Amino acid sequence: MTLTAFSCPFSLHSYPSTHIKSFSSRPPNASSQQISLDSPPPNNNHPSSSSTGVIVIGAGLAGLAAATRLQAEKIPFLLLDASDAIGGRVRTDFVDGFILDRGFQIFITAYPEAQKLLNYESLNLQKFYSGAQVYYDGGFHIVSDPLRHFSDSLQTLTNPIGSVVDKILIGLTRVRVLTQSDDEILTAEELKTIDLLRKIGFSDSVLDRFFRPFFGGIFFDRELETTSRLFNFIFKCLALGDNTLPANGIAAIPEQLAGKLNPNSVLLNSRVVAINHESSEGITVNLENGEVISSELGVILAVEEFEAVKILAGKWDPGRAKKPVRSTVCLYFSTDSDKVPVKDPVLFLNGSGRGIVNNMFFATNVAPSYAPCGKALVSVSLIGLYDDVADEVLVERVMKELSGWFGETVVGSWSYLRMYRIGFAQPNQCPPTDLMKNPRVKPGLYICGDYVASATFDGALISGRRAVEALLKDKAKVEV
Ligand SMILES: Cc1cc2nc3c(=O)[nH]c(=O)nc-3n(C[C@H](O)[C@H](O)[C@H](O)COP(=O)(O)OP(=O)(O)OC[C@H]3O[C@@H](n4cnc5c(N)ncnc54)[C@H](O)[C@@H]3O)c2cc1C
Repeated sequence: MTLTAFSCPFSLHSYPSTHIKSFSSRPPNASSQQISLDSPPPNNNHPSSSSTGVIVIGAGLAGLAAATRLQAEKIPFLLLDASDAIGGRVRTDFVDGFILDRGFQIFITAYPEAQKLLNYESLNLQKFYSGAQVYYDGGFHIVSDPLRHFSDSLQTLTNPIGSVVDKILIGLTRVRVLTQSDDEILTAEELKTIDLLRKIGFSDSVLDRFFRPFFGGIFFDRELETTSRLFNFIFKCLALGDNTLPANGIAAIPEQLAGKLNPNSVLLNSRVVAINHESSEGITVNLENGEVISSELGVILAVEEFEAVKILAGKWDPGRAKKPVRSTVCLYFSTDSDKVPVKDPVLFLNGSGRGIVNNMFFATNVAPSYAPCGKALVSVSLIGLYDDVADEVLVERVMKELSGWFGETVVGSWSYLRMYRIGFAQPNQCPPTDLMKNPRVKPGLYICGDYVASATFDGALISGRRAVEALLKDKAKVEV
């Protein structure tokens, strides 16, 4: 993942142009340089060695879900992460009173595993409007969910985003996914999403003006080559739940999970470089700092797939990961709250087929806490990394393009805050996929992560639980 920020002529403040550190004003939930209560304390003179029950490598959502399950089973564990905070790809920075998620991320309340693991009330989830404003032909056109915004949906029927038939087909697709179980959806015959949508009979207009920017924004894939399994799963979750943001930023989700773990079991700034599963001491894990930790019960590798391949160096072959991986750029701007042209908590989509912006929204319309009093936060997302375009040029292009949407006076009042270029947002999940991969590499060694299930928060959470279930099953066999 590449995260960069820069200072530019538009900015109120200047920020370093290279690596972003966490600006969290909150104390981290997980303390560093600590080891499991059940383990001897580490020796400060590296290399040292220690031992614990299960070692979980990676404290993103998958690793946190695995650790949560281990704790529930009262199995001692050590959760390691290379980074300076938990959360993996789900991180938030706090800058001068603004809450900046590292990339535009939405939490869908109907995610089934999330419902089991998270306390929604304390996340203080702030809802988006169920639908979108589509920029097309020089104006905005509402697309709304008829079950939640009936009167708005009447306008939807007559707008140029899709035909009446398209709107009926959306309703039928909804009924179809609601009658299938998640497991059925995730293992069904698959095709590319675009091929599924064409097969259903959607017109080119609705594909280009709504599906490409909306689902393309979710998959970071405007071609819609991502598997129909993922499309159906997300479509079902959208039908059942709300799109939301936690009031304290998207990182509140992993932080809630980490907050329930024994803090002595979490070790940050600890990069794992190798796993040795032929050691006489069980499975051992080598840290970059020379420390060696052995596990009595097993190791759960909860890192990105390309990291897992590196750590297991030739000992595990998942086949070649599909390219390209999904990338995005997210730009943040601030303005005065009285200069925001709309008050609705709505997502704006680019259905024009022109320009580089895919979607944008006034984050403070959804969650006022995302900016200090009197200020508003604007979030703009592009699909792809634009690594051949200088930051300053990208900011200029985005502002010029959005001036065409909202007018020069409105956009001219925006001040550039920060840009996140995220090289690895999601794995490529084009067909063929296996969204229910076996987590067992061998007895005692398990994988989890969004590449093992669906490339979503929920997929990552499910995969963590399943890795622990596989470990427990193997352990039970040994004990018998
Ligand atoms: C910009 C963006 C927008 C997204 N939008 C959405 C959305 O709206 N809805 C949705 O459901 N999903 C979304 N996703 C996807 C979702 O965030 C991911 O699917 C999920 O967070 C993946 O979690 P994970 O635990 O599998 O991996 P990660 O979060 O990548 O966690 C892996 C962890 O392993 C650690 N690690 C790596 N190598 C090592 C090593 N050698 N030693 C120790 N630790 C290591 C990393 O530091 C990291 O913390 C989005 C992702 C991004 C980036």
